[in-house]
Amino acid sequence: MKWQDKTHLAMANNEKNQRRCIACKQHADKSEMIRIVSSKSGGVFVDETKSSDGRGAWVHDTKECKALAVKKRLLNAAFKRQIDQSVYESLSSVEDENDD
Ligand SMILES: [Zn+2]
Repeated sequence: MKWQDKTHLAMANNEKNQRRCIACKQHADKSEMIRIVSSKSGGVFVDETKSSDGRGAWVHDTKECKALAVKKRLLNAAFKRQIDQSVYESLSSVEDENDD
């Protein structure tokens, strides 16, 4: 039953890095997600470092979730303000990185 222990440990460890996707509302590890940040200076952008200052919103790095976030303008709800179209365009142009 060793493998179960390992699985349990891995899950507990990963919980710290779990974030909720604004599109499908499922939780996932940060490494599987894209972060969009609303910075203190007011700019909103795709945060490639995933650690920029500001309020963050997370979306799965999948075609489905990115498309849903763009289609439903979910960043507007996440940041409680109107988000520029260019931000949605940059989100939808992020390459899928699930091949890794
Ligand atoms: Zn999702």
